[in-house]
Order: sequence, then C-alpha cells, then structure tokens
Amino acid sequence: MPHSHSTRLRRALVALALAALALALAGCGRAGSPPVKGPKGSELPQYPVAKNFRLPDSPTWTQAKRRGHLVIGVKEDQPYLGEKDPASGLYTGFDIEIAKMMSAALGFPPSTIQFKTIASANRETALQNGQIDLYVGTYTINAKRKKLVGFAGPYYMAGQSLLVRTDENDIKGPQDLAGKRVCSAAGSTPYQRIQAEYPKAVLVAYDTYSVCVDNLLTYQVDAVTTDDAILLGYAAKVPDELKVVGKPFSEEPYGIGVPRGDNALRLALDDALAANEKNGNWKKAYDATLGLSGVPAPEPPPIDRYPAT
Ligand code: GLU
Repeated sequence: MPHSHSTRLRRALVALALAALALALAGCGRAGSPPVKGPKGSELPQYPVAKNFRLPDSPTWTQAKRRGHLVIGVKEDQPYLGEKDPASGLYTGFDIEIAKMMSAALGFPPSTIQFKTIASANRETALQNGQIDLYVGTYTINAKRKKLVGFAGPYYMAGQSLLVRTDENDIKGPQDLAGKRVCSAAGSTPYQRIQAEYPKAVLVAYDTYSVCVDNLLTYQVDAVTTDDAILLGYAAKVPDELKVVGKPFSEEPYGIGVPRGDNALRLALDDALAANEKNGNWKKAYDATLGLSGVPAPEPPPIDRYPAT
C-alpha cells in the first residue's frame, strides 16, 4: 500500500528532528564551539584551588594525591547536566561544574580532572572497584544505594517525569502508561519505579536516555521516563518535537557518589558544597548550565551529613 502523504511528511519531519538533535548533541561539531543555547565559558564561575589541603584520613583522597588528579565518573549525553563534545572531548553541564567545585576544594585544579563516562547501571561497581574516585551524574541518593556507596549532598532535587512527542495527547501522567511502550535507563530509579508501581506499562531499557530519546523520535516507544532535569534538557534541544508532560511524581535528591566508608571524603565534600552554595558559585554554575533548559535556580536542598558508616 502506498504511504499516505501525512506518513511521508511525518517521516521527513522525524528525519529532520533526528538531524537537529544530532547536531545539537554534537555541539555543532566545531571544536570549542558551545552547544546550541549551551553554557558560555565566560559565565561559568572559577573555583580557586584549596592550597595546602590535606585529607590523610581519606584513602580515596590519599590515592588521588599520589596519582596527581581525581578520576570522576559522569554522564556524557545529558544536555545541560553532563555532555561531552565529541569533537573536543570536553565535558560541560551542571554536574560537571559540581565536579570541578569539588576538585578545587580537595586541592586538585579542575583542569586536571579525568572524566570517565559511566552509565547508570554501572555506578556502584565503578565506585566499589576503584575505577573512579567520585561520581557526579544525576545520581539519586537512596537507602538501597547507601548500602553500596556513600553520598555527599544532596546538591539538587529532581523528580521523575515523562517525555513524549508533541503530537502525543494520551499520555499526561504515569497513570496513562498502561499498554504504552516506556523507555528508561537500566539500573535507574525511574525504571524501578515504573516496574514496581505501573506494571501495566511496557518497559524498554537501554544504557542511556539519549538512546531512549532516539527511539521516541522514531516512534519505537511512546514515552521516555527519568528525572525532569534530564528530560527538560532533551525537550529544550528540539522543542517542536518533544515535550515534558504532567507533574514530577517522585523525589530524586542528587548526591555525589564516593566509595562507601570513606567518611572523611564524604564530609569534606559536604563542607565544600555548603561553602559553594554560600559564596554564590552554586547559583552561578546553575544559571550558566541547567538554568538554560528553562527552570530558574531553586534553593539547593539541605545537605544531609549523615553519621559515619
Ligand atoms: N536520578 C535517577 C537515578 O539515579 C535517574 C537518572 C540516572 O539514571 O542517572 O537513577
């Protein structure tokens, strides 16, 4: 059967949207050029490196000191949070700024950080086997994960939401997901929540949310679910194709992952976060990164300095 005019038009539009998203995610390709509507270097705060800083009670810090720099796990495909420019290899976003703040406070120049992209499902293992010193990448603090790793923070409060195509009118909240194909990242709290609380949804899992978004744009899935902060970034890149719907239906406090039991490191990071919230750097960093997806800077959530584990 020949394709109808509207089917062909729709295919052409999807192809265009994909091209636009690829361009946007690639930061337009040219080395050093900022992504569309992305953070401008000049607006980002500078973090003075702590002089003569020592943290001998922290095994993680002591090893990093010997090595000469920190190795920090992050995401590379989450607009305004953690994005890697494929041409220059540079990482940008709010999580990246938090990582830089923490590096400076621990006495390591932010320019020396070795960033490693680690997917949601692999974060605990990466911290447990010493592959990374810290993890900063939309990492929800919860009781289950606290048995495996430590968390400084929280430094931001997100909430689970839904991303759909702009031509989608049936899905307005998680209650509308029965029989719908819903995509999320393996090992993430949003994936686990849909599985436990909305079992009639047809769950599809990939390693990353950007693959879910590709599947949404090509009509392979009906919705993508994860934190609002992440989804708003994808929607902001192609506002004609994608929209975030409904209200957030969970609380996702973002923490800085550290190896479990390294309490000295965790509490030093809590101190560093508090200092950067107080001196205005937290807000400056937010405004230059995550703020660009459209939400004005909120008050940061209270830091949870929990007792030694
Ligand atoms: N914040 C959620 C989590 O930690 C979703 C985002 C992510 O997968 O990084 O699972």
